Amino acid sequence: MSKCLNQNRLLEINNLSFSYGPIRALNHVTFHVNKGEIVAFLGANGAGKTTLLQTISGLHKAASGQIFFKGEDITRLPAEKIVSRHLIHVPEHRQVFATMSVVDNLYLGAFHHYSKTKRKNVDKDMTKVFEIFPILEERKHQLAGTLSGGQQQMLAIARAVMAKPELLLLDEPSLGLAPLIVKEVLTLVKKLRDDFNTTVLLIEQNVYASLKISDRAYVMQHGEIIKEGTAQELIQDEKVKEAFLGHAVN
Ligand code: ATP
Repeated sequence: MSKCLNQNRLLEINNLSFSYGPIRALNHVTFHVNKGEIVAFLGANGAGKTTLLQTISGLHKAASGQIFFKGEDITRLPAEKIVSRHLIHVPEHRQVFATMSVVDNLYLGAFHHYSKTKRKNVDKDMTKVFEIFPILEERKHQLAGTLSGGQQQMLAIARAVMAKPELLLLDEPSLGLAPLIVKEVLTLVKKLRDDFNTTVLLIEQNVYASLKISDRAYVMQHGEIIKEGTAQELIQDEKVKEAFLGHAVN
């Protein structure tokens, strides 16, 4: 099995391509995420951001190119094997199990290591999750579908934390949320990195708010990366300002 060599690189993507029939959604995408970084992906609707996350997490099979995670080539691994490597995807629109309780949603997050570990370890993780997301403890017996949009987003992220992520792929966590809740969600994302050393790859429509918590960012257009830089560089970039920062959340 071929290995990627840079020890600091948690995720390395080389020349990744994917098409939906005749539609080329990813075209030779190359980038990396270092351990401990928050890296944002910016781009208009249809740029290929969601497809990129789905291909990394094994929901789509790449037409060509390679995906390395912790030095292992995971390009051809099925999604459930990728989850067991602690690469965890929080999909767009949250997708919590609406007719199950908050606690049962959280247990499902621990599914891939549940049989290998003791129940008390999973319960310990749940205690930690409730410290990070106290509102979920208050609502722990409530059906997930009855939570507010912001609380469901917290639950979707908390469920991913139960899977012990080394890399979290977050697809539009603020979609449809009020500005104050957006701030709260993004503050939690930063806390997961700062306090729990979780590396994050973030797609976010609130470009300014996401750049404020990110270290680096890439800009996608028509399935290709057209720009990259530190978050600070991109906040000051005239083209980025013109294209995206009209949607700023302060
Ligand atoms: P958005 O913010 O709107 O989700 P995005 O940057 O995440 O945009 P994708 O959803 O990855 O972009 O879409 C990339 C391209 O692939 C677009 O042209 C889109 O129309 C197309 N596409 C996405 N999903 C499908 C699908 N299931 N079948 C066919 N084409 C698709």
